[in-house]
Amino acid sequence: MRTRTLALALSAVVALPLAGAATAAPAAKGPKTLRDYPVPAVSGTQMVDGVQAFSAGHPLRITGTPVQRQATDAIAAEVKALGYSVEVVTYKGVLQAVTATKKGTDKAAEVLVFGGHFDNMVGTIEGAYDNGTGTRILMDLARSYAKVKTHRTLVFSWYNGEEEGALASDEMAKDYKARGVKVKAYLGFDMVGIAWPVGGTVSDKNCLCMWRGARDEAFDALLADVNYRYLKFPAGKQLVSVEGSNVRNSDEASWADAGFPTLRWAGMRKARDYPQYHLPQDTVATMTTVAGGREFLEKGMRNTLLSAYYTAAALDLQK
Ligand SMILES: [Zn+2]
Repeated sequence: MRTRTLALALSAVVALPLAGAATAAPAAKGPKTLRDYPVPAVSGTQMVDGVQAFSAGHPLRITGTPVQRQATDAIAAEVKALGYSVEVVTYKGVLQAVTATKKGTDKAAEVLVFGGHFDNMVGTIEGAYDNGTGTRILMDLARSYAKVKTHRTLVFSWYNGEEEGALASDEMAKDYKARGVKVKAYLGFDMVGIAWPVGGTVSDKNCLCMWRGARDEAFDALLADVNYRYLKFPAGKQLVSVEGSNVRNSDEASWADAGFPTLRWAGMRKARDYPQYHLPQDTVATMTTVAGGREFLEKGMRNTLLSAYYTAAALDLQK
């Protein structure tokens, strides 16, 4: 009897604020449409500045070197400050993955994994495009999602050992497979941002390009929906292009090999379309020239972020 009275009293107290909040905050139950995901606040200027600061601040970050480990620590500290649960996982002594996790709400057992490498090829110095850009877009995505109540769990992952054969991502993907983690999709970023639009003469090298794993045909329609119908980006081989089965080769291959669905973003169709690919002058200055000016590089970075952010949101909304 006392219990029942207390329950009634509590429900009366609780009912009032809930009734008031019902129309004001539908997001309390999690997003229902793409419009419920807040538009990312990070600007293209901030994104390119971030690439510059990271790539010039950690030159020669070759896997296993002290500089590379300093980059690991910097990434871990920055994403931790955003409120994520952060781990630095070490495999075989030298391989590392920085992982940042935010639990989902009603579908927390399913995971969206975002990833890219932060190590450098021997022979490069700053490695701004390959892969300061992927490193930073992951951070910008983590920042954009930091306060969003997603249905599914988000894991952001930064790898070393990519230039020696996607070694750290291979370990992480195999570990997830062994533990039976339900990966909804892996979203990969390597050499992104010289995308759409670019200034000057546009050729078949230019694109904001997206690929998916060989067996993930269903992602073609999802990418088209998000990029063309929701974001209203222009479709075209030299504009924003859903390319089909992945012909690029980076950390997403580790996840595809482990049997998980994958997606990949890149700006420019092939790695060698970027003139300083794996060369010493891979800098923001070179990227700016190739993009046809700083404003185009900034827009390309921001458009790539929006493409990936809303694709992840569309995956998060699936039943
Ligand atoms: Zn790369």
